[in-house]
Amino acid sequence: MKLKVGILGATGMVGQRFIQYLKNHPWFEIEGLMASSASAGKKYRDAAKWYLKEEIPEGISDMIVEEMDIKVAKEHDLDIVFSAIPAEIAKEIEENFAKEIPVFSNTSTYRMEDDIPLVVPEVNPEHLNLIEIQKKKRNWNGFIVTNPNCSTIGLVIPLKPVMDNFGIESVNVTTMQALSGAGYEGVPSMAILDNMVPFIKNEEEKMESESLKILGKFESAGIKFADFDVFASCNRIMVLDGHTEAAFVKTEKDFEIDEIKKVLRKFHGEPQKLKLPTAPENPIVVMEKDDRPQPRLDRDLGNGMIVSVGRIRKKNEKLLKFICLSHNTIRGAAGASVLNAELAYKKRLFV
Ligand code: NAP
Repeated sequence: MKLKVGILGATGMVGQRFIQYLKNHPWFEIEGLMASSASAGKKYRDAAKWYLKEEIPEGISDMIVEEMDIKVAKEHDLDIVFSAIPAEIAKEIEENFAKEIPVFSNTSTYRMEDDIPLVVPEVNPEHLNLIEIQKKKRNWNGFIVTNPNCSTIGLVIPLKPVMDNFGIESVNVTTMQALSGAGYEGVPSMAILDNMVPFIKNEEEKMESESLKILGKFESAGIKFADFDVFASCNRIMVLDGHTEAAFVKTEKDFEIDEIKKVLRKFHGEPQKLKLPTAPENPIVVMEKDDRPQPRLDRDLGNGMIVSVGRIRKKNEKLLKFICLSHNTIRGAAGASVLNAELAYKKRLFV
């Protein structure tokens, strides 16, 4: 029997990606759609700001959106919820759900708390060990597992094999981020048409701190953060989906470009070993053409779960440059959360 899942923030940009990823899921079945009180009581098709090319799935379109209340989870007997709600309201709402059932969250609110796992399954699956510590400390029946900010996730996946094989001294990254990353109401058309905005509130801080937690080690006392600097400059560009990032990495050991390509291509993790339903066969694709990756051409690779890496160059000894691209609402949000839930379920951390 499939697990019954609910979606908090089901009408938003990330919420609809959850629907897309969960509609034919072999283990999970959507039983509850929750959003703001402005949407509650409406049919999903009337409440959602649907922006995906495919139609709203049959069976979802007529579902009634409900208030974001733990009572809804109890009425539907939900086993878990996925959360895609604004950070400002997540503190109390996610806690109310986590007291009872597991919450897999996209929201930044809890990411950096000591006992909350911030997980990219290919990179740091062992951080899920924090669940036990969290449940004891907070006395919750459920728990919260978070996935990182959408630009962080596309960076840490290629950084992990580089770090494991050559060590990292520092990372400098400049992002070119898609509009969907700001949510439906995010960036006014008058601000972005014919333009680029060199500021995304709190984004640089998130990239600089979250990367070090994810690339850190799980120890019995908690997470020991990775010990190098990350410098980020974040920009909004006029692309619908897909964050592109230009990374400059100072490594500890010298490398050859072919060695970098080899470790990126070989990289895989627990989702691939366990053949989790949402896992791409290879989390990284290395591109050889000078003008790739590009958002419009490459963001949907592996159903949006692959990070494309190209323009791999060596500037000086121990100085690596590359461009990476990932789908922000899939690998950077809903797909990431679903993969976290699949991993936690497969490891029998709930139900
Ligand atoms: P969005 O399109 O603005 O959707 C927000 C969702 O939250 C909608 O379902 C909305 O319901 C609901 N909501 C808003 N205010 C609420 C309130 N006061 N009470 C209850 N529900 C409320 O935002 P999004 O882009 O999907 O992002 C959702 C979360 O995921 C954010 O925390 C964001 O930072 C994070 N995230 C986004 C991305 C991305 O690429 N977009 C990537 C990673 C993480 P109504 O439709 O009823 O207003």
